[in-house]
This record gives sequence, C-alpha cells and structure tokens, in this order.
Amino acid sequence: MKIVEVVAALMIRDGKIFAAQRNPAQSHGGCWEFPGGKVESGETHREALARELYEELGIKAYPAEFIETRDTDSPDRIIRVHLYRTLIESIDFKPTEHSATGWFDLNDAKKLNWTQADASFIPDVEKILHSESGLYTATPEDLDQLPARASGNHIFRAIQRPWDGRIKERSVGHKCRCLLESRYDCRQITISDTIHADDGTTRIIYKLFDGACIETIHMPRDVKSPRVTLCLSSQVGCGMNCAFCATATLGLKRNLTADEIIQQVILALDTFGPHQAHSVNLVFMGMGEALMNIDNVMKAIDILSHPQGLNIPVVRMTLSTSGVLSELPKLREAKNRPNLAVSINATTDEVRSQLMPVNRKFPLSEIHKALLDWPYRSHEKVLLEYVLLENVNDSDEDACRLAEFAKDLPHNINIIPYNETPRDRFHAPSAESVQHFIKILQDLGCLVTLRVARGVQVGGACGQLLARRQNSNS
Ligand code: SAH
Repeated sequence: MKIVEVVAALMIRDGKIFAAQRNPAQSHGGCWEFPGGKVESGETHREALARELYEELGIKAYPAEFIETRDTDSPDRIIRVHLYRTLIESIDFKPTEHSATGWFDLNDAKKLNWTQADASFIPDVEKILHSESGLYTATPEDLDQLPARASGNHIFRAIQRPWDGRIKERSVGHKCRCLLESRYDCRQITISDTIHADDGTTRIIYKLFDGACIETIHMPRDVKSPRVTLCLSSQVGCGMNCAFCATATLGLKRNLTADEIIQQVILALDTFGPHQAHSVNLVFMGMGEALMNIDNVMKAIDILSHPQGLNIPVVRMTLSTSGVLSELPKLREAKNRPNLAVSINATTDEVRSQLMPVNRKFPLSEIHKALLDWPYRSHEKVLLEYVLLENVNDSDEDACRLAEFAKDLPHNINIIPYNETPRDRFHAPSAESVQHFIKILQDLGCLVTLRVARGVQVGGACGQLLARRQNSNS
C-alpha cells in the first residue's frame, strides 16, 4: 500500500464541518468546508467527521486503519485526520508536490468539490497546528504544561527511556497517555527489516510515517567496557550526489523530522541495547547530509543529550558533512555542539569537484579556513574523513597534500578504504597501498586512524546505505 499521508485538522463549528490545513512549505494554511457537512443528532464529533469524509469521498466500506482520528480536549474541537493515499487514489486525486513531505495543500480540495470557507477561525487552527509537535521532541518544560499528575521530567524520561519499566509504570498511566496523544503527534517509526552481519553489526531499516525507508547501523564494539555506535540518517536519500556513494543514487527525498531522528536512536537501543545510554556513540554518517537538515538535527541532539533523557554527551556525537559551509555557522553557534567530521576525500579541487559536486561551491581552501577558525573544545579534534579510491586519490602526492591540509588543524585523519557499491566505477586500493598511504601521513606528523569497515557483508558500511527496495516501492 502506498501511504503518502495527508494530514488536516477537521473542525465542527455551528453544525458544519470544516477542514483546515497548514502548508508547511508556506506560512499560510487554508480552510475548506465540506459540502453539506452536518452533524446529526446523537453523533459524536469523531463519528460525524468520519461519516462525512467517507461519504464525500464516495467510500462505502473502509478498513479501519485507513483513517485515524484523535479528539483533543480543546474547546475548538479540532480533530486531526490522517487519510492515506489509497483513499486519495481511489478518487483519482493527484497529490501536489507537498505530498512528498507528507502534506497536501488544501487548495486541492477544489478537486474534491469542497468550497473555501470564509472562516474567521483560521488563525486558531494555525495556532493549534503550529503548536502541535512530535512527542519525542517535547521537552520536560513542555510536558510540565500538561494537566497531568506526573511531572514533566517523569513523562520525558518515560518517553525517552521506554525500557525503563519503573519510570513507565509510575508516571505514565492510561490517562496520561491519552493526554499525550491528544496533544502530541505520537506516531512512531517502525523497524521494517533487520540484517545482521557476522561482525555483530545490525543494519536496521526503518519505515517512516509516509512509507519512506531509512537505515540506521547498530555497531557494538567488543572492548572492555562495551560500547555501541549508532550510525544515524538525517535525510531520506541525499542530494549531494557524491560520485562514489550509493545513497546518492536515491536523490534527496526529504529531510527527517527531529522526531524521526530521535526515534532512530530510541528504537535501536530499545531493541538491540544497550539500555545504558552512557555507553553509546552517535555518528551522523548514515543517509543524508546532516548540515542540509541542521535545524532538525540540532533539535534532536538537544533532546538526545538532555540530562533527564538519554543524556548522551555531545562529545560522543559526531556530525559528518561533505562541507556545506553555508550551514556551518548554525552548528558553530549550537548550544549542544557535536564533534565535527568533514569528508575531504581528495586533495585538489579538480578531483574533489569530480567526486563531490559540493566542492564547486565550497572548495578545499574555504573548508580549510573554516576549520582553522573552528571553536574547538579542549582535546577536540576535527575528523578528516578520506575515502581511498584506487588510482583516484591514493598517490604519494595526495598523501603529502593531505598532510599539508591537516598539519595546522587539531585533526584525526580517518582513512576509509572504499566500500564497493552498485556504482562500482571505483575500487578499493590493496591493503598494502592503504598502509603505504597511512605511513606517509604518519611520517609527516599526522594522527591517522583506519576505519575498519563494519557491516560490509550486509551493505551497511559507509556509502552503501541505500534502502533501495523500500524507497522505490513507496
Ligand atoms: N553526508 C555526510 C555523511 C556521508 S557518509 C558526509 O558527506 O560526510 C559518511 C562517510 O562515508 C563520508 O566520509 C563519505 O565520504 C564516506 N563514504 C561514502 N561512500 C563511501 C563508500 N562507498 N566507501 C567508503 N566510504 C564512503
């Protein structure tokens, strides 16, 4: 089933039914009246709305999961309705460009013969829709506003640490859960598939609310104090079009919401552990360019590092970018700033521009300048990632230029031997060439680490993330 979701607020005023929607791509919304929509005596609002909608759409019998209504206790009697594309398709409705982000524009209600309402209450709707946010991004302060007996901190902890039965039982009873559902968008992403590799890595394929798929890689490290690194996605697909990366073949589908980013972590830890978040590292190195979705990424980091929640220290988080310098100031000014990693991947602008089109806008010299000027914390280093591609960027001269680039930066050069992808124009150098390249860098005084490929067998290693089957179906 294709499920591009349509979200609208439905309201009953003066015995009539109205639909209103905020269009997230623009600042305005619209308000439309269902032709002839009336509440019949004895009907609940929920029933009236469902009946009217289905009658309007000409659907006689419908599976319950196609519609989900949630009452709120607000006096405006706003009900959010989720209609799925199956319904829309059944009336030959062509979703607008906004449906790609899970929304549609109610201007298209014209096609459904709804008429525009002269509604003075649009601002109320706007206010309510704007204020509704995802459950996972609610802060303890937000949750304190609920008329619940439990404190905001308790509810926050129960949301962020779902495995903690003690907290769950004590604070989030049925009543509180209903309250949360009425105030917040409580939809959850789901695990659609998991693929385990012999090295302990698990590739988790998540299905999002609109049917799109993303991947998160769960990598336990077998050391004295067990640690897990989660490699997170920040976008569905990626728009940077790096020549060697499998995700690029998807193109950019959309940004992830902060809620979706947080849920990747919570669901992965809940399912695969550990349940002690202090032994977790997060790296934004999965699908997507995190700086192109920096607002949501930072919102998620604020929650994930919150002392009452998972409390993952920002120094254990790393954001990797292809070098979108225009967005870097937002990261620089962030209250909870993760470590920075930059994919360098070539030592001349000519080669880098061929591998990474973003280099045409932000060349190596600009990146170097930005990194010189970076507000490093004590002991903080920038991770300079370098994918080694045979006969492309692995010459002795490349090693010397890379050392020159790194020498005045507090750095750690991370060498990543190329992982094969379906775009196999490129090849990994031999193990000897990799060691030779590393040796030159070390002799020139660089700190170098070799990234041991994890999850290659299941296509979960760097640059292999695709979720192709799922996304081409959605
Ligand atoms: N958009 C971010 C995250 C991308 S993936 C960025 O560009 O940094 C994280 C790392 O994997 C990047 O350094 C990227 O250059 C590298 N990578 C991409 N495809 C790869 C592949 N096929 N083999 C090895 N590393 C790859």
